[in-house]
Amino acid sequence: MEPVVTRLSEAHAPHIDPRRPSPRRIDAMTTPPAAASTIVVGAGIVGAATALYLARAGVEVTLIERYEPGAGASGRNAGYISMITRSAGPQLELARLSRKLYPELADELDDFEFRANGALVYYYDEQVPLIEGFVERRRADGLPIDVVDGDRARELCPLLPDEVIGGIHSRSDCYIHPGKLVEALVAAAVKEGARLVIDDAVELQVDSGRCIGIRTATGLLTADTVALTAGSWTAELMTRAGLPFHLLHMRMQMVETAPIDDRFDVAAYGPSLFHEYAFVRELPGYDDDIVLHPLQQIMPEVGLLELICQRADGRLWLGCPIEFVDGPDASPAPTVAGMAQTFGVLGDHVPALQHLAVERTWGGIAPQTGDGLPVISAVPALPGLFVGSGLAYGATVGPASARVLADLVIGREPDIDVAAFRYDRPAITEGMARSATLG
Ligand SMILES: Cc1cc2nc3c(=O)[nH]c(=O)nc-3n(C[C@H](O)[C@H](O)[C@H](O)COP(=O)(O)OP(=O)(O)OC[C@H]3O[C@@H](n4cnc5c(N)ncnc54)[C@H](O)[C@@H]3O)c2cc1C
Repeated sequence: MEPVVTRLSEAHAPHIDPRRPSPRRIDAMTTPPAAASTIVVGAGIVGAATALYLARAGVEVTLIERYEPGAGASGRNAGYISMITRSAGPQLELARLSRKLYPELADELDDFEFRANGALVYYYDEQVPLIEGFVERRRADGLPIDVVDGDRARELCPLLPDEVIGGIHSRSDCYIHPGKLVEALVAAAVKEGARLVIDDAVELQVDSGRCIGIRTATGLLTADTVALTAGSWTAELMTRAGLPFHLLHMRMQMVETAPIDDRFDVAAYGPSLFHEYAFVRELPGYDDDIVLHPLQQIMPEVGLLELICQRADGRLWLGCPIEFVDGPDASPAPTVAGMAQTFGVLGDHVPALQHLAVERTWGGIAPQTGDGLPVISAVPALPGLFVGSGLAYGATVGPASARVLADLVIGREPDIDVAAFRYDRPAITEGMARSATLG
């Protein structure tokens, strides 16, 4: 990737810079865009994809990132495009839109290891009472689901032991390489005319009751509209402008092993996954005791999205413990409890992992909202300001969120109903506690 990185000193007036080539218009626009210029703050998956969709619509885009693209959660996640865990309603509709956009992105962008061979939730004798109800519910929600026996589960993921008696194969799930995706999105946005500026957005600039730009660490940027896509850090910029924005913050952690010879391209999940979702906990047959590993029972404050996938280079990614932390600037470093659960639960459920060399561990801070839904919205109290944040499942719903946000900015009707994602709702403006970790 060769991004056009512009230091702020060169970019004080992004929409009159004569050195900047005119953006190419790729999306057919029947009416001129409502916003001719937009500043997008934060180059995670949401910001990078928003910049791309806006630039394609002919908007002059300045994408501001304080570190480097993908520095937040988007460059650190497991890359699961998780249909099977999205609850029916707005969450699933947003995920469906993303699922539609991903193959298009895979065709258009540099390779980001898009693997569309489904997810496999492997299970053991203990979980049998829950499986029928779960499968029935997900099929009723319209997801393409097969129930496979233990042998077929081992064909899909050869690491699984004989004790695995079956699997739920969710055919519409997929996975990607998160860092490569953000890089590819930024490269494509830059190719379409967007400009990437490495700088720290400090506060919103307001004039006559309208958001007119961003004051950064080194100067002032102005534009017709501002889109805040700063992930967990969005709340700081909003509250500094007197706009309440309640987010919760999750530290999530990953492990990378040495490459293995066996190859598989299904996104595998273990049974402790079931514990993390409110809609699963309500199903007949659900009981903490049949889905939680004993190690989880002694560390109840750490959630575990139990997962294994393989990268193109043969390395395995294992995850993913989840801890709520006080704020976005909590250390993202892996913790003893998080790693204990990852190694202990996966090492017990999948003994073939036990002797693999661990090459790398990392963590990241991802946002969550009280009602588990993102904010993809205009901010009625401050015309000119838009927000795309609060995504707990941003690898899954990032492209769709960006597409919807870009639609809102340019005044185009989004493909899905976005009422549930509005800023002006109590979970965001007043805050709300959560019952399940990932919603
Ligand atoms: C370990 C881990 C595993 C995960 N696994 C999955 C998964 O498998 N599937 C899934 O769907 N989701 C997963 N997630 C969640 C997913 O990563 C997030 O939901 C998603 O990345 C959020 O994207 P974002 O663009 O909103 O925020 P971010 O990626 O955090 O991007 C925000 C960007 O804004 C920048 N920024 C912040 N403040 C400023 C400022 N003032 N000025 C300029 N720039 C600023 C940051 O540096 C950052 O680059 C996981 C998260 C983690 C940490």
